[in-house]
Amino acid sequence: MAVAEGLEVARFLREQPKKLFIGGEWVESASGKTFDTIDPSTGEVLARVAEGGAEDIDRAVAAARKAHESGIWRDLPPAERAKALWRAGDLIEERANEFAQLESLDNGMPINDALVFKVPLAAATFRYYAGWVTKLDGGTQSLSLPGKFLSYTLRQPVGVVGQIIPWNEPLLMASWKVAPALACGNTVVLKPSEETPLTALLLAEILQEAEIPAGVINVVPGFGETAGARLAAHPHVDKIAFTGSTEVGKLIAKTAAETNLKRVSLELGGKSPNIVFADADLARAVSGAFMGIFLNSGQICSAGSRLYVQEKVYEQTVDELTRSIENLQLGPGIDSMTQMGPLVSQTQMDRVLGYISIGNKEGARLVTGGKRASGHGAGFFVEPTVFADVEGKMRIAREEIFGPVLAAIPFSDEEDLIAKANDTMYGLAAGVWTSDVKRAHRVAHALQAGTVYVNCYHMFDPAAPWGGFKQSGWGRELGPYALDLYTEIKNVIVDIA
Ligand code: ADP
Repeated sequence: MAVAEGLEVARFLREQPKKLFIGGEWVESASGKTFDTIDPSTGEVLARVAEGGAEDIDRAVAAARKAHESGIWRDLPPAERAKALWRAGDLIEERANEFAQLESLDNGMPINDALVFKVPLAAATFRYYAGWVTKLDGGTQSLSLPGKFLSYTLRQPVGVVGQIIPWNEPLLMASWKVAPALACGNTVVLKPSEETPLTALLLAEILQEAEIPAGVINVVPGFGETAGARLAAHPHVDKIAFTGSTEVGKLIAKTAAETNLKRVSLELGGKSPNIVFADADLARAVSGAFMGIFLNSGQICSAGSRLYVQEKVYEQTVDELTRSIENLQLGPGIDSMTQMGPLVSQTQMDRVLGYISIGNKEGARLVTGGKRASGHGAGFFVEPTVFADVEGKMRIAREEIFGPVLAAIPFSDEEDLIAKANDTMYGLAAGVWTSDVKRAHRVAHALQAGTVYVNCYHMFDPAAPWGGFKQSGWGRELGPYALDLYTEIKNVIVDIA
C-alpha cells in the first residue's frame, strides 16, 4: 500500500470492499475465506480479496438467472442498453488513472502500456458494442415451400453467460467478454483470475454506476479448480466463454459437454510466428520483433515467440535485436520509466526459467538474457532472453512459454517458411515483415492463424476479430463475430396464405 499512497488507486486499495459482487451487492464469500493478491514487482501482498467458491458461484448464477428471466435487461429498449454500455466506456475513461495504476500493481505491466493502450481499449470496447445494441437485426428468407410464408430470423440472448478470464490482461479480457455479452442482452457471471482480481472489481463498480441493473453483471473472484470449475459445470449457465491455457480450455469443453452442453467459446494459447523476409525494412522488423515478444513481458497469448528470419539477414537481425535489448528498462510497472515489468507470479517466473534451462539443454544458442534479473529484490523479474539457431523440434519452439523468451529460427525461402511456421498445434496470430506486397498477401493466406499482421504487430481494435485456428481455440471474439457467440438465432416461419 505504501507505494500507492498519493495515487488515485489509494482509494480502491484502502476503501473498496474487495468482496464478491452478486445481485448488485458486495457480499462475503459463503466460506468466509479470502486470498491475497500479490504485487509481482515486490512479492508483497497488495490486497486481500473474498474468495468465491462453488456455493458463491451458485448464488451468482441464481442472481444472473433471475435477472435474465425478469427481462430487466434483455427487454430494455435497445437504445437504453446502448446508453448504459456507452456510459461504462465513459466511466472507464474518466477513471483511467485508477484502472491503469491498479492493473499495473496487480499484474506488473508498465503503467504507460496500461494508460495509453489497454485502458483506452477497454473503454473503446464498451463503446463499440454499445453501437451494436441497436443493430442486432435478423433477416428474411425467400422460402420455396408451396403456399405463402413469412420467414424471418431473430437474434436472442443466449441467457446466463459464465466468463472465465486469465491474469495477463485482466481489464482488457474482462471488457472483451462483458461488453458483447451485455450488448446482446445476456446476464453475466465473471470469474477473474486469482492472480489479478482487482480491476474486475473496479469494473463492477463502474457497471453499477452506469446503471446496469442488479444481477445483470456478477463478479466472483476465486480459484480455477473451485469457482471456475463450478461455473463451467453449472446446469443453469447457458454459455461459457473462456480465455486461458489450452489445457484448461479442453477441460472446460469436456465439462460443458458432460453437463448441459452449454455453448463454449475458447481463446487459448499460442506460439505465434513473427516472420522477417530479407526484403523487409529491417529496422521496423527488428522493433516489431522486439515489441512482439517483450510487450507485457511476453505474457500475451499472441506473443511473437517464434522469430523466423530469412537466412540472408538472419545474423544481422539477431544482432540488432540483441543490441536493442541492452537499453530495455526493467522495473516495477508503476514506475513510468519502466518498459518491461515483472512476470505475474513466482510460479510463472519459475515456469519461464524452467523453459530457459530446457532451451540451454536442448542446445539452442543463448544470445542474451537467460536468468532471473538481479537488482529487483523479491520481484519476479526475468531478463529479456533470446535463443538463436532454434530447431523446430525443440520444446522452446513448440510450447507456449508465456514470458520474455524468443526463439529465433532461420529459413531459406517462402515454401520452407510456410512449412515451418505452420508446424505447430497453435494458430492464434502471425506477423509478416516484407516490402513485397504480393508476398505479404500470399503468406498471409497460407499461414494458419486467426490474425496475420503485415508490417506491424500487436494491433488490437474492438472491430477486429480475435481468436485462433487449431488448438488456439473456438470462435472469434470482437468485431461483429462476437455477436454470434452471445446470441441464439431463432427462425420464425409464419403461414400467411
Ligand atoms: P494461465 O496459464 O493463464 O494461468 P489458466 O488456464 O490456468 O491459464 O487460467 C485461466 C483462468 O482459468 C483463470 O481464471 C483460472 O482461475 C481459470 N481456471 C483454471 N483452472 C480451471 C478449471 N479447472 N476450471 C475452470 N477454470 C479454471
